[in-house]
Parts: sequence; C-alpha cells; structure tokens
Amino acid sequence: MIQDQYGRSIHYLRISLTDQCNLRCVYCMPEDMSFRPSSALLQDRELIRLARIFAELGFDKFRLTGGEPTIRHNVTELVQQLAALPGVREIAMTTNGILLKHLAQPLADAGLHRLNISIDSLNPKTFRRLTRWGNVDDVLAGINAAEAAGFPIKLNTVVVRDVNDKEDIVQLARLTLDHPWQVRFIEMMPLGRISDFQLSHIVTEDELRANIEAALGPLTLQNEGQLDGEARIFKLKGAKGALGFISSVTKPFCAACNRARLTADGKLRLCLLRDKEMDLMSLLRGGATDEELKAHIEKSIWYKPWGHGLAERAYPTHRVMSEIGG
Ligand code: SAM
Ligand code: SF4
Repeated sequence: MIQDQYGRSIHYLRISLTDQCNLRCVYCMPEDMSFRPSSALLQDRELIRLARIFAELGFDKFRLTGGEPTIRHNVTELVQQLAALPGVREIAMTTNGILLKHLAQPLADAGLHRLNISIDSLNPKTFRRLTRWGNVDDVLAGINAAEAAGFPIKLNTVVVRDVNDKEDIVQLARLTLDHPWQVRFIEMMPLGRISDFQLSHIVTEDELRANIEAALGPLTLQNEGQLDGEARIFKLKGAKGALGFISSVTKPFCAACNRARLTADGKLRLCLLRDKEMDLMSLLRGGATDEELKAHIEKSIWYKPWGHGLAERAYPTHRVMSEIGG
C-alpha cells in the first residue's frame, strides 16, 4: 500500500467519470460553465487501465463521481469492469440521483456497493433554487429505487446560508426519525471563481447543529466521535437513522486523509482543496508503460500536501467542484 511522506496510507481513489452534469448547483459551478470535449477526457480503456494500476498499487476503494457520473453513457459497464479488478474491495458512487430511478438496480447488478445521493432540500422551490435545473421528485424517486435495490441510503446536503439552513435542514434531519438513513450535512467549500459566493454563504457545523437541536431536540454523538469516512455521526433521540456532519472547513480531517482523486481529464489531484496535480493523461497518451505510470503515481502520492490551507486563506483557484468530483 502506498504511503505519503507523513505516514498516511493512501488507498482510496475518487474517480470522476465526466466533468458534465445534468444540474447546475449554485455552490458547485457557475451557470455559464463550459465543459471539456470528450476527446480530452479519459476514454473507457484508459480509465480501466489506470484503475487497474491503482488497484495494483494497493488502492482498494474507488468512488465514482463527476460532474454527474450517471450521465456517462456506459456507466454500468464501467462499474462491472472496475468491480472485477483484483484487489478492489469497494466501489461507491456519489450522484445527484436524478437518473437513479432507472439506474439503481442495474448499478447494483453491476457490482456497485454504495451510493451517496445528494439532496439539498425536500422543498421543490428551494431544491430548484439550489440546483438551478432540478426537480426534487426525480431525486426522491431515485432514493426509493436505490433503497429497493438494496443500497444503504446516505444523503448528502450542502448547506447554504439563507437558502436551506433552517426549515429545509430540519426537514431533512427529521427523515432519520423514521428511516434507517444517514443524512449528512456538508460545510460548503470555496473553489474556483465562485469562491466569493461560497465563503459568504457558508454555515458552520456548530451553527447548524444548534439549529437542528433547537427544532428537534438534543443530538447524541456516536462512535465516540470517530469519523465514518469524513462524517462525524450524531443521532436524534429514538431515531432509526443518523446525522453526519462533514466539516472540512471548520473541523478538517486532513490528518486521517487516505484519498487521492483522478479527474475526468486524467489528472491525479492530491488534495481536494489544493491545486497541485499530476498529469497522468499526458503520460498515458505519450506511451508510458505500467511501471512508469506506477513510479509517477507513487512519487506524487509521497508529496501529497499535508492538508488544505483554508485557515490561511489559501483557496484552490484552477477548478470548480464539478471538475474534481468532491
Ligand atoms: N453530481 C454528483 C452529486 O452532486 O452528488 C457528484 C459530484 S458532486 C461535485 C459531489 C458532492 O460534492 C455532492 O454531494 C455535492 O453536493 C458536493 N459539493 C459540490 N460543491 C460543493 C462545495 N462547494 N462544497 C462542499 N460540497 C460540495
Ligand atoms: Fe452537478 Fe453534483 Fe455539481 Fe450539482 S453538485 S452541479 S449535481 S456535479
């Protein structure tokens, strides 16, 4: 298994299948976003070759993301091929859920283990305001299909001040009373040319927890504060499910980071919130052998940054979130 210079084992790869999306969430990308031509993105064979190389280096967990991963035309075949790679223990996906109604079962059949579904409000108007284009009923149908296909349900909600930080959040938290789901609230992170909006609309975990407790009663910390992935877990009294708080801005978990990211245009991104990347695509298309690619990956991982620099106001500028995958 590969280690970085700080002794962290890096074995979790988040793979962006496309930079395109069927939504335009305000906290993720500007409305006039332009996308790369598909020739500039990793083709199926290139993607599978790189994934195999990462698996041979000890990466045992892959998460497929985007843009929106489900709009990649052959997403189920890709899942099948990734799941068949020796050494791969878990394949997960983060999706906006719009297309899940018809895709959840085929994805389960293809070997996908876990799904995280993004939903920022149950209120159709607020949902539309945040996603610019979305219809919340499509996501709710997607969640039902995912549950019917046997996936454990984890929902992701980005919290935006003065948009969904009060009643919407309480409604989402209330879902955990009756459903064995994990509803995870994410602190908005600043990236690229929409960072002014993100910084001015962030809601911290402490403030959010206080809002939820004021409406629904005390939250009890679970697992002695140990993170589930990147989320700190709490429960409402008598709840079937749990609440997660992903607070990369105010409570960073960089010391426990075990991940790297492969962008849709074939760059190895070493920290979500640092611009530093290594150009695997050029090496790949320049004819590098597997051994050469492995050596470059190992060296880059060794120099993975210790953590983000948000506290020092060092914000990543080169990409917005949809071009990385979260
Ligand atoms: N399109 C899929 C989706 O929305 O789930 C996958 C890609 S999206 C970039 C991955 C996750 O990042 C989503 O849960 C999304 O809500 C979250 N996200 C997007 N922009 C963010 C930001 N500025 N700060 C924190 N999370 C963000
Ligand atoms: Fe698309 Fe996901 Fe970004 Fe929303 S958060 S615009 S669904 S990539």
